[in-house]
Amino acid sequence: IYTPEPLADNTTIALDDQAVTHLVRVLRMKEGDDVRLFNGDGSEYQAQLIIESKKSASASVIHATRQDAPLTLQIHLGQVISKGDRMDFTIQKATELGVTDITPLTSERCDVRLKGDRMEKKLEHWQKVAISACEQSGRNTVPAIHPPKSLSDWSSGIEADRKLLLHPHNQKPLVSDQSPESIALLVGPEGGFSDIEVTQCQESGFDGLLLGPRILRTETAALTALSVLQYVWGD
Ligand code: SAM
Repeated sequence: IYTPEPLADNTTIALDDQAVTHLVRVLRMKEGDDVRLFNGDGSEYQAQLIIESKKSASASVIHATRQDAPLTLQIHLGQVISKGDRMDFTIQKATELGVTDITPLTSERCDVRLKGDRMEKKLEHWQKVAISACEQSGRNTVPAIHPPKSLSDWSSGIEADRKLLLHPHNQKPLVSDQSPESIALLVGPEGGFSDIEVTQCQESGFDGLLLGPRILRTETAALTALSVLQYVWGD
């Protein structure tokens, strides 16, 4: 169970409404039951449930039981914002697949424009998607979801040992002669990248990565690339 609170041995943490509903109403847990807590910094704590009422509960933290090992491969994902729930899918799968952080990007062919309150709400929603994926996959380090940036700002500023641009028309294969410790992975929107964007990314040091002869949906492309990169260089 995720809690934003700082966690330490022998403390008591009030659980939020969502956690109470999940533990007490959905899982029907009882007073004294064992719960695992994490706050995203990599540690997992064993705790016991204290039920105050049907709508209120807390957890008595016993001690830290586990610490996520540092990621072998840092993957910074730049994903041009996709439509509907595709972006949620990408964030969920990228979290399960051990991404370090995700930056939603705007580009020439990106149809989703987020500003002000809508952007704040979306970011909050995406962070919740990442937290749920951590809970489901037993990951204790929540990847940061950064505020949206333009494709050109992100691609010209990101630092990584290897920079990869997913592009269905690019024939450059993934060469594994050296093991990078960090990768910047750039995934395009439903309409793809414009020629100018591809050239600019190449000028910023991005190599094209082709994932086979078929055109994949943007969310399939991100998931596939992350699986391949973790298999080749990650844990
Ligand atoms: N009509 C678009 C084009 O020709 O560029 C197709 C875009 S595709 C639906 C969405 C994104 O997924 C692409 O911008 C690219 O980043 C990635 N992608 C899809 N298929 C790919 C492939 N076979 N190899 C590498 N990247 C791919």
